[in-house]
Amino acid sequence: MVAPLRVGIAGLGTVGAEVVRLIARQERALAERTGRGVRVVAVTARSRAKNRDIDLSGIRWVDDPVTLAGDPEVDCLVELMGGVGDPALAAIETALKSGKSVVTANKALIAKHGLRLARAAEAHGGALNFEAAVGAAIPVVKTLREGLTGTGIDRVYGILNGTCNYILTRMEQEGLSFAECLKDAQRLGYAEADPSFDVDGHDTAQKLAILASLAFGTEVAENAIYVEGISSIAPEDLRAAAELGYRVKLLGVAMRTAKGIEQRVHPTMVPKSSSIAQVMGVTNAVTIDGEGIPPITLVGPGAGGAATASAVVADIADVARGVRVAPFGRPVETLRATEKAPMERHEGGYYIRLMARDHVGTAAAIATRLAEQKISIESIVQRHPDGGGPASSGEGAPVPVILITYATHEDAVHRALQAVQDDKVISGRPQVIRIEKN
Ligand code: NAP
Repeated sequence: MVAPLRVGIAGLGTVGAEVVRLIARQERALAERTGRGVRVVAVTARSRAKNRDIDLSGIRWVDDPVTLAGDPEVDCLVELMGGVGDPALAAIETALKSGKSVVTANKALIAKHGLRLARAAEAHGGALNFEAAVGAAIPVVKTLREGLTGTGIDRVYGILNGTCNYILTRMEQEGLSFAECLKDAQRLGYAEADPSFDVDGHDTAQKLAILASLAFGTEVAENAIYVEGISSIAPEDLRAAAELGYRVKLLGVAMRTAKGIEQRVHPTMVPKSSSIAQVMGVTNAVTIDGEGIPPITLVGPGAGGAATASAVVADIADVARGVRVAPFGRPVETLRATEKAPMERHEGGYYIRLMARDHVGTAAAIATRLAEQKISIESIVQRHPDGGGPASSGEGAPVPVILITYATHEDAVHRALQAVQDDKVISGRPQVIRIEKN
C-alpha cells in the first residue's frame, strides 16, 4: 500500500479545526477511497495555547505557516487562515514551488492571485484545489472544472452569499426592513460586525469571478464585475415582487453575450417558479446553463465549519488519489483575457418603482418618456400610498407606481428615468431591479 498523504494544516479556526476532526472521523473511508489514506502530520495557527477542542496528539506544531509549507514531511498544504496577502499567499507559493499540492478555501486569495498560483502549480506539478472557496459544500468548482468538460456553458448564476439570502428571506417573509434583518443576522452570527463585504456584494463578486473563469475559460477578473448590494431593497419591493410572481435574490451572474462575458452582482427579480427562487435562508445555490442540456441547479450549505470542511477534505482526497487537473480547468496560458461586457448594454426586463406625484397627466408623462426610449411596459400597478386600494385623487401626494418592462437596454432605462426625474413628476429616486429569466 502507498504511504498515506502527509497533510500540513495552516489555520485551525472554524474550518481548520473541523478539517482535523473530519479527517480523524473518516480515516478508514479515506484510506479505502483514495487507496492510501490521509494523515495530518503538522499544523500551525496564531496561538498555540488556544483550546480548540481537537485532538492534536501525534501532530507536530510548527510556528510559522511558510515554514510549514516548506516542511519536507508535508506533501500537501491545507491553507485555512484566510486573507489576500501573506502569510497565506507566501505559504501557498512556497508549497507549490516545492512541488507540493495545496488545498484552500480562500476565495479572496484565489480571486486576486488565482492565476499566479495556478501558474506555479502547473509549472511544478502540484494540484491547487479550492472547491470550498465557492459555495462551501456545494461541489460547483468540480462540476464546472471536470463534470462539464464536454459542455459549452452559456450562463452560470447563483445565490453565493448566505448572509444576503437570509436577510432577503426574512424581509420577504416578515415584512421587516433591511436594517432590522441585518441586526438579527449579526446577532445570530450570520453577518460580520462590519457587514459591508457581504451586503454590498463583494463576497459574491469574488466567488463569481472564480466561477466565470471556470465556466468560460477566461482569466479571473474580479474588477470586470459590476457590483451592487442589497441595502437599497425595501419591504415594498419584496411585496410587489411577490404580487407580480417574483422573488428578489442577490445573484451573481456570468453569461456569454455577443459583446463579451457579462459578469454582474446585484439584487435580481427571479420568477417564483424557478429553482433558484426556492432557495431560502442561508442556503446557497448555483444554476448552470449548458449548451443543449436543461439547467443544472446545485443547492446546499454555503458556509459553516462542517460544510466547508466537507469540500476541503474531498479536495485533499483528490490529491491523495493523484488527481491533477489544471486549477482553472485548462492551462493558465490558454485562458483568454476577460472582455468586460458594458453594463449599459445589459439587456433584460426591469422592475421600476416610482413615487409619482398625484397630478393629472403624471402617468401619461412617465409612459411618454419610456416610449421615447422604446421601452415597452409589461405591467403597471399604481396604488394608494398605504398599499391598499387604488390611488386617491388627493392632488400632489406621492403615489407608488410599479412598472415591469419587457426586455430593453440598461442605458435606455437610465435615460428614460432621468427624463422622468427632470420632468419633476416623481419624488425621490426611482428604484430599479433587474429581472433574470430562467
Ligand atoms: P477563522 O475561524 O478566523 O480561522 C482562521 C485560522 O487561521 C485561525 O486558527 C487563526 O489562528 C489562523 N491564522 C490567522 N492568521 C494567521 C497567521 N498570520 N499565522 C498563522 N495562523 C493564522 O477562519 P475560518 O472561518 O476558519 O476561515 C478560514 C478560510 O476558509 C478563509 O479563507 C475563509 O474565507 C474560508 N471559508 C470559510 C467559511 C466559513 O464558513 N467559515 C466558508 C467558506 C470558506 P488562531 O486560531 O490562533 O487565531
